[in-house]
Amino acid sequence: MVDTIWPEFLKIIREEVGSRTVETWFKAVTLKSWSIDQKEVYLEVPNGFVKDWISTHYLVLCQTHLGRLLNIEMPKVTITDARNFQSENNLVKVATPMAPASFEKSKFALVKAPVAQRSGYTNVGYTFDNFIVGPSNSLAYAAARAITERPGELYNPLFMYGSSGLGKTHLLHAIGNSIKAQHKKSIVLYQTADRFVSEFISAIRFNKMHSFEEKYQKADVLLIDDVQFISGKDQTQEAFFHIFNILHDARKQIVFSSDTVPQNIHGIAERLRSRLAWGLVTDIYTPSLETKVAILKKKAEQSNEVISDEIAHFIASHAVSNIRELEGALVRVIAFASLTGQLISLELAHKVLLRPVTESTSKSVDFKRIVQCLQKYYPYDLSALCSKDRNREVTFARHVAIFLIKRLTNKSLRDIGLFLGGRDHSTIMHAFERIDNYMQKTPEFSAKIKLIEQEILR
Ligand code: ADP
Ligand code: MG
Repeated sequence: MVDTIWPEFLKIIREEVGSRTVETWFKAVTLKSWSIDQKEVYLEVPNGFVKDWISTHYLVLCQTHLGRLLNIEMPKVTITDARNFQSENNLVKVATPMAPASFEKSKFALVKAPVAQRSGYTNVGYTFDNFIVGPSNSLAYAAARAITERPGELYNPLFMYGSSGLGKTHLLHAIGNSIKAQHKKSIVLYQTADRFVSEFISAIRFNKMHSFEEKYQKADVLLIDDVQFISGKDQTQEAFFHIFNILHDARKQIVFSSDTVPQNIHGIAERLRSRLAWGLVTDIYTPSLETKVAILKKKAEQSNEVISDEIAHFIASHAVSNIRELEGALVRVIAFASLTGQLISLELAHKVLLRPVTESTSKSVDFKRIVQCLQKYYPYDLSALCSKDRNREVTFARHVAIFLIKRLTNKSLRDIGLFLGGRDHSTIMHAFERIDNYMQKTPEFSAKIKLIEQEILR
């Protein structure tokens, strides 16, 4: 059974978190066993780093989907670090996984059991304690800390902006967790603007406006992530405006994150824009090399690994534009070392990070070159790609173009949208995911895309 459950699980989460995450993190994890009686699932990972990462970022995901596959409602997920286990037990290899305890008793079926809703809650793994402060984020950090001392009183709203992967979501959750720790009764609501929009739409569709509004209006702390995604959604904005006013009047704390300053969020009503900037607007920018090195060393230390300055420097300077990528690079190095039983050396880091065509190689390709190369495979020129033509073939070629641009350049979703005829970022995101998923399902197509990619990078 283990043989089929785990691949099935990977397939499902690939849809949700993308293949990159699956490759980086979940490929290193093994499903050891589970117990329906104890409502527990046992996973094994190669080292403490992967363990921390999975526990911090993907625990709910594991609970939800493994739970569903194994027919255990929200099981406890226990993750063991294979390396520790081996050394403590002084064993060379732990060969036999425990037999799934009471598996036989239960009827195993791939039923869609109701799952606990993750939406709305803060992620307890993101705290101030494990947020590393440096010049690039110290203002945002200080502001975030300050509002947790006196929620609703100091900066309201607090608006934090910066590029992707620099810690905005982390800080939002940290604020929520910290306030909740101090005031047990306060209602802390975290939501991404995307989800807010879709909740709103379904509230309208199913006549649930009242409970939708009520849910948000009774929040003591409202954390809205990636608020830029509310752009162009006029009706949602109106509902949001209303909620904002009620909360703000009642001195409830509101915090936003965004990829840009309020003035640059297009497609939102002026009155909402001005409210976004009412309190304090603060930015997070790309960390300097020194900060990156500090982050790496701290992260390694947190998972009981030691990396030398030299190696930290190498990782930090190797094509990593944000902290998410930085963590990814570090974990690949650590995981590779532990999987192959080698010490972490500069040479090893080289080997792992300088693989040909990884997701973060050469981010300096330009849009035009991508479109040019693409044309050999999909016969549409730039004006066709930019047009409003929704013919299936053109649309598909356009989606491939979006996918390649996003993968091979550093451009934001917004920039890509602007380049391709002024499309909005959610369209771009959707197109990217569509191609990404299609590649997973279709090896020939995936090979074709890799070929085009190589040609572009040549
Ligand atoms: P954003 O929301 O800005 O795109 P995230 O908050 O999701 O970025 O951060 C991406 C990853 O990097 C997360 O795993 C987060 O924990 C980590 N991270 C970002 N900044 C820091 C920091 N200063 N210290 C520790 N971890 C960080
Ligand atoms: Mg985020």
